Amino acid sequence: CLITLEGSEGVGKSTNLVFVQQWLEARGVEVVTTREPGGTAFAEQMRELLLAPRDEVVAPIAELLLMFAARAQHLAEKIEPALAAGKWVVCDRFTDATYAYQGGGRGQSTEVIAQLEQLVQGDRRPDLTLLLDMPLAAAADRVRSRGLPTDRFESEQGDFFMRVRQAYLQRAETQPYICVVDASEDLAQVQQSIVTHLTALWDA
Ligand code: C5P
Repeated sequence: CLITLEGSEGVGKSTNLVFVQQWLEARGVEVVTTREPGGTAFAEQMRELLLAPRDEVVAPIAELLLMFAARAQHLAEKIEPALAAGKWVVCDRFTDATYAYQGGGRGQSTEVIAQLEQLVQGDRRPDLTLLLDMPLAAAADRVRSRGLPTDRFESEQGDFFMRVRQAYLQRAETQPYICVVDASEDLAQVQQSIVTHLTALWDA
């Protein structure tokens, strides 16, 4: 199975990715954890290109194509072989992040993204996507409190992230594999909700 975690910055994806991994491993599953953009050496180089702060304006279509180039490599080299070997793959961001950031955030059309998705992935979709959702202000506080260096995307303005969040929530309305988790709750409650969704997938 392919499980992905989605959400804006500061919603707790990293912490909960480890939680999902441990929940699966406790059930005897072999788990591969990975992330996008990136996940392989070549795709991580594309990630560096994408995230590096730069003065030049990156054409949205260039950003979109690079995201899918990285994804194509990631699928071919890591995700598909792991799934074929019966492993479970848990991925920090996947194509729904493209609908949210390159689509909602940068205004690339959903139709174009869907075409690239079909081209690069064929029928591959996540079996479960946990969309960690919380109001923007609270997520921004969490990012600030981390004090990490900001990348090209984290320096974006609030309305960009508002569009990203809306696009994520719209995806959740149309894609049955996406489960929205209220990430503003305390961690124990968030993880209880995650367990509910994992259990439903496990029992399916
Ligand atoms: O998930 P993570 O925070 O590591 O992602 C790194 C950066 O890449 C974030 O700032 C995120 O907003 C951005 N990103 C993006 N479009 C994607 C995936 C990630 O803009 N499709």
